[in-house]
Amino acid sequence: MANDKLFNGLPWIEPRAVYVHIPFCAHRCGYCDFAIAVGRDAEMEQYLEALEAEAARVIVPRPVATWYVGGGTPSLLPAPLLARLGTILNRWFPLIAGGEATLEANPESFDHEKASLLREIGFNRVSIGVQSFSQVALDALDRPHQAEAAAQAVKVARDSGLNVSIDLIFGAPGQDLPAWNRDIELAVALAPDHVSAYGLTYEKGTPLERRRRSGLVLPVCDDTEHAMFGLVMEKLPALGYQHYEISNYSRPGMESRHNGVYWANEAYWGLGMGAARYVGGERSVNTRDLSDYLRLALSGAPTARPGERFEGLEAARETLFLNLRRARGADPVEFERRTGRSLQSMLPGLEKVIDARLLEIVPDGTVRLTPEGRFLADTVAGEVLVKAGRDD
Ligand code: SF4
Repeated sequence: MANDKLFNGLPWIEPRAVYVHIPFCAHRCGYCDFAIAVGRDAEMEQYLEALEAEAARVIVPRPVATWYVGGGTPSLLPAPLLARLGTILNRWFPLIAGGEATLEANPESFDHEKASLLREIGFNRVSIGVQSFSQVALDALDRPHQAEAAAQAVKVARDSGLNVSIDLIFGAPGQDLPAWNRDIELAVALAPDHVSAYGLTYEKGTPLERRRRSGLVLPVCDDTEHAMFGLVMEKLPALGYQHYEISNYSRPGMESRHNGVYWANEAYWGLGMGAARYVGGERSVNTRDLSDYLRLALSGAPTARPGERFEGLEAARETLFLNLRRARGADPVEFERRTGRSLQSMLPGLEKVIDARLLEIVPDGTVRLTPEGRFLADTVAGEVLVKAGRDD
């Protein structure tokens, strides 16, 4: 990471990254189970006050290497409130030279004014929630924007000199392989620096999951979903995007450094409703209720319950599980430095996924998913979190 010299502590103890959650959305998309607030825009200003109160309670101003503002829909904040958010970030978490600063934007709430303001604040990257260029898929996902708006949003970001990441979803009801192929091609035609491609999941309690249970929505079959994942894994690298994490592809040097902190199981600050933080080896999560968050933060009370501490074998399993999301996998030197355990010592218990050729050990000792293992990453994760390092 750039300017490492500025940080004295160990990166899994002293955070070098901050996540800020902006929960407001214009409406709830059918598949969404994120911590969001719909129809509460009148509370945006108060929310920013609460963010600052939370920062003031838990930290002293300190430099970081990455900002990531996610949601919700951060681009829904009107320009004056975006400027206020910038003031808060720059005051409490000044970004080091060469740092990475990302804000999530949705096509329908992003324009030239906001894009230039983001640059002035210090942002250098936007992650645009495109999801699909097909109106059929957008309607199935209950997304509020029109297919053409996504391309326009990418152009707006580019014109302002922001780096661009595009989010895509495959496996939407009614989407077939040719439609997904077209989505990939249209995304690449916009020349983004980074693409995230996620398979649709039917999260319990979402409107889409209820529609599926009552037979009103037919999910794509497993074979099609498998083929869709295979297609994006083959196609994006052939078009110049390295597949560096299970769901993420980038032009060389444009990987998300902020998300790299999570996959290395390093520390990070988190502010805002529903935000998680991992500081000093303890992970805690803020309340997901907007009224509770405002009340607690503005009264100077803790916004999260006491955190969980991961230590010993449990922490090592968690680190391995996260490292395996990266194409480069778990590095023996990095792993031992991070966990105090050798990577080799984590292999007992994983015979099943190694024998099934889902996990491989390369000659330098690196452990990583095989191409087949990427399709079954959840199966491997289950084994790693429960059995890695066990020698009985
Ligand atoms: S815009 Fe994003 S965060 Fe908001 S409801 Fe839709 S999927 Fe959820």
